[in-house]
Amino acid sequence: MTFETPLALPPATDQPTFKRFLTRVAEVVGRENIQVVTSKDELEDGSYHNQPYTHDPHHILDQDHFVASAVVCPRSVPEVQDLVKLANEFNVPIWPVSIGRNSGYGGAAPRLRGSIVVNLGKHIRRILEVNVEGAYAVVEPGVTFADLHQYLVEHNLKDKLWIDVPDLGGGSVLGNAMERGVGYTPYGDHWMMHCGMEVVLPNGELMRTGMGAMPEPRKAGTVPGRLDEEPGNKCWQLFPYGFGPYNDGIFSQSNLGIATKMGIWLMPNPGGYQSYLITVPKEEDLRKAVDIIRPLRLQMVLQNVPTIRHILLDAAVLGSKASYTSTQGPLGDEELDAIAKKLNLGRWNFYGALYGPEPTRTALWGVIKQAFSAIEGVKFFFPEDIKENCVLHTRHKTLQGIPTFDELKWIDWIPNGAHLFFSPISKVSGEDAMLQYSVTKTRVIESGLDFIGTFTVGMREMHHIVCIVFNRKDEDAKRRAHSLIKILIADCAAHGWGEYRTHLALMDQIAGTYNWNNNVLMRFNETIKNALDPKGILAPGKNGIWPTNYARTTHKL
Ligand code: ADP
Repeated sequence: MTFETPLALPPATDQPTFKRFLTRVAEVVGRENIQVVTSKDELEDGSYHNQPYTHDPHHILDQDHFVASAVVCPRSVPEVQDLVKLANEFNVPIWPVSIGRNSGYGGAAPRLRGSIVVNLGKHIRRILEVNVEGAYAVVEPGVTFADLHQYLVEHNLKDKLWIDVPDLGGGSVLGNAMERGVGYTPYGDHWMMHCGMEVVLPNGELMRTGMGAMPEPRKAGTVPGRLDEEPGNKCWQLFPYGFGPYNDGIFSQSNLGIATKMGIWLMPNPGGYQSYLITVPKEEDLRKAVDIIRPLRLQMVLQNVPTIRHILLDAAVLGSKASYTSTQGPLGDEELDAIAKKLNLGRWNFYGALYGPEPTRTALWGVIKQAFSAIEGVKFFFPEDIKENCVLHTRHKTLQGIPTFDELKWIDWIPNGAHLFFSPISKVSGEDAMLQYSVTKTRVIESGLDFIGTFTVGMREMHHIVCIVFNRKDEDAKRRAHSLIKILIADCAAHGWGEYRTHLALMDQIAGTYNWNNNVLMRFNETIKNALDPKGILAPGKNGIWPTNYARTTHKL
């Protein structure tokens, strides 16, 4: 079997070994499921709908900095297990992805150049179960939010169950939960809402977590079949913890296993729904708004994960920068006010929803309206109040779990737009939110960019998502975006703020900020990593965790 020489070989692997490895892999997955990445010319940034598996399409370093040596698409769980065993035999690092969009965080690219990207989503993509009574689904890695939603529509289940979606519907339900991504219904914390996993361990063994560790008794007369096809325990998706240490957490944002199945709780149709927008005219009234939001969210008067969006995030969804102004540099207060006026929005725009029958919604809306009325100039809108194309019309869908792709547009704020997310966690406190906003905004503007961002309000914290939009064809703009995020990480750490998730290029730096008591957390993570994956084959460097055979000092960024 012939295999070309890759652009980047895996570390410590020569070409003959690489070829022998892929020859053995081909015996498992079929030659047609292996693509060797041979040259830079082959790297296409593609688009959200046509995402590459070879590299990060939103590259802030050279396009081929985080490049795969090859992309392999296993067809089943036993093939994943065999692939992992071969990676151990040949000492080749592998990097699993489900759908590989991971937009703004590195795409499908591996942290370690030359790793093999394992594209699980191409073939392993069944919705294994949608259980109406238990209100959950069991999915494989390749099931997207759009797929799961479509399944409910096609099976006439929308009157019973809703899903939760992030801003864009094309990601993997399982992959997004693994990265602890969020959506905007009451079930917005995807990791919180997962229940039970099946995982291929770094030695190739298959494990089920929680109640899944208890075998479902076999029916009389049935013979054992494929392990991964065995029915799960009847409580696997109902009780997350099982018995003994709760292990699921160590598989999220980590490099300790390849998830092949996941249970995800679905939201029962609440029996009524109303989305809304509250516009807050003054920039400094973010402080008041957040202090109003905190008790309402804690009491669950605010039932979902609402967002407080900066004017430019909404503006960018509705048009490019050039469509509003000829100003090249960061926009000032007057221009921002003018855009807000033009769009009939505030400097901050709060999107939420009410769930339940009409009397419930009316009662909750009364409380929310009264609380927000303490801010001068706020306005309240339902989607039906606005005729023009607007963000509320999109959020109306998102907040009831209907996948959309409209939010892709803000990336086109500038020509050749690409993006990088900076995502620190904030207290739900006016003072903290205001300080975090002003610290980040100052740095964004210093680097010549517009501040574009949103606060998504969890149960007791906010994920502050700063969208760093840069021109991917301008090397200087890329350098500035990279240096900006490094400064933001350091500035925020100095205030005690840490990020919830990050791009490949920043994993080491951020891991280094979670260093309480002489880095005990990292030492703990490394101990587990080295015990479970002594050859360090699985996603070395993921979230700053390097196995001993890849010295951090050599590889860190
Ligand atoms: P998206 O849903 O945005 O397309 P990806 O499939 O790219 O997300 O997954 C994002 C990241 O999550 C990957 O880079 C990888 O680190 C991790 N991940 C995704 N799927 C799995 C999986 N099945 N097992 C282990 N880690 C995974």
